[in-house]
Amino acid sequence: MLNIGGLTPFTTIDYPGKLAAVIFCQGCPWRCGYCHNRHLLPVKQEGTVPWDEVVRLLEQRRGLLDAVVFSGGEPTMQASLPDAIAEVRSMGFLTGLHTGGAYPERLEACLPHLDWVGMDLKAPFDLYDQITHVSGSGAAAEQSALILRQSGVAHQFRTTLDPTLQAGGGIERLQQMVAGWGGNLLLQQLLVR
Ligand code: SF4
Repeated sequence: MLNIGGLTPFTTIDYPGKLAAVIFCQGCPWRCGYCHNRHLLPVKQEGTVPWDEVVRLLEQRRGLLDAVVFSGGEPTMQASLPDAIAEVRSMGFLTGLHTGGAYPERLEACLPHLDWVGMDLKAPFDLYDQITHVSGSGAAAEQSALILRQSGVAHQFRTTLDPTLQAGGGIERLQQMVAGWGGNLLLQQLLVR
């Protein structure tokens, strides 16, 4: 069963052009300095929203909501994610995923059930450790980005304007990389708390 740390029943900004609910999955293996969802980072923390409650809400919102987005934390950390996405899609909703790409194989398992993915690129892949503070995170993200690009599923790459990244010319390198893939990098302002 998916461990859920929060639920937003209605948003216009988390799935491009659609009215969506957002499920915030508990747990993330990375430790970005600018993370604004720190309460979602501990893996073993018990969630606050039972899956049954999510299903009940979605049944009530049929015809009012277009999409459901799985966000986090890092949703692909949880083994039950592919089944949860498939269940939501079988209820008639579009399905979206926010991911940093920490678990390429799980992302691959989810893709057949997804209509859209927003993938956060933290930095050029060789600089990932500086942002995530986890060794090897760049290699995982690189593999996930490749899987996503080859999947045929609609997607958007985006990055947070971290000062470390900006100072080192990392944003320009990222933009060039994504342009080379034929895409556009969406820049997101750092949230100051
Ligand atoms: S990957 Fe996202 S959820 Fe995880 S620490 Fe970084 S910003 Fe926070």
